[in-house]
Amino acid sequence: MTIDFLIIGQGLAGSLLAWELMQRGCKVVIVDNGLENASQVAAGLINPITGMRLVKSSEVDTLLPIAKHFYGQLAEFFQQDFYIEKPMLRIFNSAKEQSHCEKRLNNPDYQPYLGNIDASIERFNTPFGYVTQRQTGYLLTRPLLACLKDFFIANSCYQQVAFDSADIQLQPTLCWQGIFPKRIIFCEGYYASQNPYFAYLPFQAVKGEILTLAHSNHLPDTILNYGQWLIPLNAHQVRIGATFDWQNLNNQATELGKQSLLNGLKTVLPHFDCEVQDHQANVRPCTLDKQPFIGFHPQHPQLAIFNGFGAKGSLQIPWYSQHFANVLMDNGALNSLSNIQRHYDHYFTA
Ligand SMILES: Cc1cc2nc3c(=O)[nH]c(=O)nc-3n(C[C@H](O)[C@H](O)[C@H](O)COP(=O)(O)OP(=O)(O)OC[C@H]3O[C@@H](n4cnc5c(N)ncnc54)[C@H](O)[C@@H]3O)c2cc1C
Repeated sequence: MTIDFLIIGQGLAGSLLAWELMQRGCKVVIVDNGLENASQVAAGLINPITGMRLVKSSEVDTLLPIAKHFYGQLAEFFQQDFYIEKPMLRIFNSAKEQSHCEKRLNNPDYQPYLGNIDASIERFNTPFGYVTQRQTGYLLTRPLLACLKDFFIANSCYQQVAFDSADIQLQPTLCWQGIFPKRIIFCEGYYASQNPYFAYLPFQAVKGEILTLAHSNHLPDTILNYGQWLIPLNAHQVRIGATFDWQNLNNQATELGKQSLLNGLKTVLPHFDCEVQDHQANVRPCTLDKQPFIGFHPQHPQLAIFNGFGAKGSLQIPWYSQHFANVLMDNGALNSLSNIQRHYDHYFTA
């Protein structure tokens, strides 16, 4: 079988890239091992203003409208909403954070994303006040990936199998298991660290844990951010997260992770009765220079990578799927920020 692109990995990266290429008429096969992935565990948050200094994410003005449009098109196709836009109450942890926010409010670049500073929320511990953030929300990654998987199966372009790079034939024609693609595109998330062609790239993966809680408290219908975050799923269920662990790169949910999330919540909601319903962990494919890893292998350009979206996959992947699809269809060059060419000299050992 001759195809345009063989995509390895059906996380958010592989799925949205495959969808985009198929919309443009390309013949695609997508292969996944069927294991739970980072995309399914992720909260899917999109938050344009982050960190203690309340800094606007780079390129958010470009990435966010494309992300909303992309998820809107998928919602229309599958007749189901995937991106839930909700304001976020950012609770300040210190007077310094509040003063950073005051400065941001005077900056016109930040005005589309920030509302008013207020003092208190009923039943919450907010000694330094809070600000209402706008244009925040979260992606329902699990139902989106399930719909896309069904779509790929219905179009006979999905295979559930663990892909082994040793089975790739590079010469005279690129081939894997009787499939002849023009290119193989690796969208393996954290597993790229085991890929013989791309493991040299400087990933800096980070494990994260998330809890789903059942409760009977009254909460505002907003996302909360207090260093960690809380997303109300419905009147009686929330998700809280997430931890950051650079050492133990596995998908084991730990007691330590659970306690750190529950303790974090207690600092802002000291009297919150709840029961842990679910506890998940997975590994974010973060990179040392905080930029995605996209591009072609320096010696085998028929092999490509689309990865490294770190903790910002929901925001970045739609724009980069369109951008990389343009490049793959010979319609423009890769932007230098994401192009792995920046690492050829330092990390590629021939
Ligand atoms: C706890 C946690 C919280 C997060 N919260 C957020 C958030 O709020 N907002 C946000 O934007 N992002 C968040 N993220 C990050 C987000 O998950 C990633 O940015 C994004 O999902 C990465 O998608 P991916 O497709 O690159 O990787 P993955 O989702 O990991 O997908 C890779 C896929 O490739 C498959 N695969 C790998 N190797 C092979 C092989 N050899 N053969 C077959 N299949 C293979 C894997 O099984 C997997 O299905 C979070 C992540 C975690 C872990």
